[in-house]
Amino acid sequence: MSAYVGRFAPSPTGLLHAGSLVAALASWLDARAHSGRWFVRIEDVDTPRCVAGADQAILKQLALCGLHPDGPVLWQSQRDEVYQHALDQLIAQGLAYPCGCSRKDIESAQASPTQRHHAQVYPGTCRQGLQGKPARAWRLNVQAVLELHGMTPLVHWHDRRLGEQTQDVLQEVGDFVLRRADGLWAYQLAVVVDDAAQGITDVVRGQDLADNTARQIVLQRALGLPTPRYLHTPLVLGVNGEKLSKQNGAQALDLSDPLAALNEAAHALGLASSGPTLQEALNTWTSQWLEHAYQQQCLSGGGRLNGWRWERDSLYDHPSSAP
Ligand SMILES: [Zn+2]
Repeated sequence: MSAYVGRFAPSPTGLLHAGSLVAALASWLDARAHSGRWFVRIEDVDTPRCVAGADQAILKQLALCGLHPDGPVLWQSQRDEVYQHALDQLIAQGLAYPCGCSRKDIESAQASPTQRHHAQVYPGTCRQGLQGKPARAWRLNVQAVLELHGMTPLVHWHDRRLGEQTQDVLQEVGDFVLRRADGLWAYQLAVVVDDAAQGITDVVRGQDLADNTARQIVLQRALGLPTPRYLHTPLVLGVNGEKLSKQNGAQALDLSDPLAALNEAAHALGLASSGPTLQEALNTWTSQWLEHAYQQQCLSGGGRLNGWRWERDSLYDHPSSAP
């Protein structure tokens, strides 16, 4: 029995759309092709954004597509104590600190607010203390983690499709949030804790999440948790050329014909159409998965995703563990 453990981790902010089915199918196929197990985790820590009933609807969508988890589904909203324990561990080690900054404080403290258009870099204002401000959020002291664990500022990681990746977390992100000002757990903390708790060896998820990986590796080291292997799947673009997402109004999947929906997802992954039944198609793709995908030109975007290169050896590597 393979030690491989994979997962699909949707946020129940709506139903699955064509893009999220690609990530679900890829993670399921990768687990099957490695004779591994595949779990589903409902990432519902951001409760104000969750839609009532969407979790059950997503599970039903997956079942209609023949993608059945190999164990109990995990709901992040039920794991408050586990996340608190992780935060306490970081605080005890001097690796997390309270932050009293408002969004506006952070903006005005930035040397060059335009350097990263899609996220604010936290300038470390409260690292030396709150200076009378009330604590709002908890942040990871990235510099302290790097020093404690002998890590270089540039965090390196290998993506099975995108190849070598680097990010200077301190410069490009700063001390990131672990617990938000509204009391909710930050995505990064919940994901890192749960990937370890579920024994995930391989994270297969959409490329829109690739940007989070370096932060998650820093947090894994801080908490003494292993680092899984990563594979980020190509994004499915809508007719407007933007990635499909619930935020930009992607339609929920039409599952009146699950095989047709799966064939579209398979196509985005560079797999040929298959059938005639759902089960036969899944079996065919599973047997093709490791072989097919090394140099696959994929997606109807016509070369938009030039990064679709798989590396034969890395598909068989074992995930590295943090010392
Ligand atoms: Zn602050």
